Amino acid sequence: MDIIDKVSLKKFTTIRIGGRSSKIYFPETLEDLEHLKSKISLHKTIILGKGSNIAFKDSGYKNSIISLKHFRRPIRRIDDLQITSFASISCARFSKFCFKNKIPGFEFLHGIPGSLGGAIAMNAGAFGDEIWNHIDSVRCILHDGAIKVYKNNNIKTSYRYVDRSKIKIFLNATLNINKELKFNKLLLSKYSLQRSSSQPIRQWSSGCIFKNPSSKLAASSLIESADLSKERVGGIYVSRKHCNYLINDGTGTCHDLEELISFIQDKIKTKYNITLDREICIY
Ligand SMILES: Cc1cc2nc3c(=O)[nH]c(=O)nc-3n(C[C@H](O)[C@H](O)[C@H](O)COP(=O)(O)OP(=O)(O)OC[C@H]3O[C@@H](n4cnc5c(N)ncnc54)[C@H](O)[C@@H]3O)c2cc1C
Repeated sequence: MDIIDKVSLKKFTTIRIGGRSSKIYFPETLEDLEHLKSKISLHKTIILGKGSNIAFKDSGYKNSIISLKHFRRPIRRIDDLQITSFASISCARFSKFCFKNKIPGFEFLHGIPGSLGGAIAMNAGAFGDEIWNHIDSVRCILHDGAIKVYKNNNIKTSYRYVDRSKIKIFLNATLNINKELKFNKLLLSKYSLQRSSSQPIRQWSSGCIFKNPSSKLAASSLIESADLSKERVGGIYVSRKHCNYLINDGTGTCHDLEELISFIQDKIKTKYNITLDREICIY
């Protein structure tokens, strides 16, 4: 198992923000994780997927980090009704596997630049769908190190929320195939096109910074109508292409990001009396 120490955390996040790390562990197998469990306190450890919804403080992160980047990632269709996959697989690979096997229903995952585990932890979604709509069960490592399988209805989830109070690591998942859906080979490219035309996907960001206040009210519309689309703090600015994306121009810090987030939250609260909740995880 690779271990690195005292490196810049910037390169582990898609928004390229963060100070220096303490030890980062890269387990490859369950045995590596078992070994780690006995060595470090899981409580304070952060699990890193693909870093597409994480920013680290400029002062760095002092406790251990486990990256699942090198973890094995097999995916398998169990039968006509279910797929099983390790959480370390990327959403893109997962949806491509489904595409190749003509399994409908997972096209929405294609443009989400995270891992399946990250998607499960965040209840990631797009185009009116979200990952927990498809989960049958998840195998997890709990904070106390025990391994447990949870059925979908035993974990509380809602829009971009998953109750992780007992769960430390999502290891793998079994997902249901919806037999009612018809495979549409054009859907994947349709979604990709929609994304690239409306979102700044080539710039350094964490995707949408705020949760939408409701299914009928987008955070981006609020930010735009409050005339905040030209705001900037240091190296972090509001994207003109999609106002719910905050972009790092390469010089941005976590301090800049947090200042801009607070500034936008305050303005929206004052103007509309609406609280914008943050989607990005800042450690
Ligand atoms: C350009 C862009 C577009 C995006 N579009 C979308 C979108 O359409 N919809 C959407 O929902 N999100 C979107 N996002 C946000 C992000 O990609 C998702 O939230 C994604 O699911 C995060 O996965 P990750 O592997 O990168 O997780 P990370 O950012 O590494 O981690 C996020 C959180 O999940 C936890 N975590 C990660 N893996 C595990 C695991 N295996 N077990 C337990 N906890 C874990 C981390 O500890 C952290 O708390 C976008 C981001 C970008 C940069």
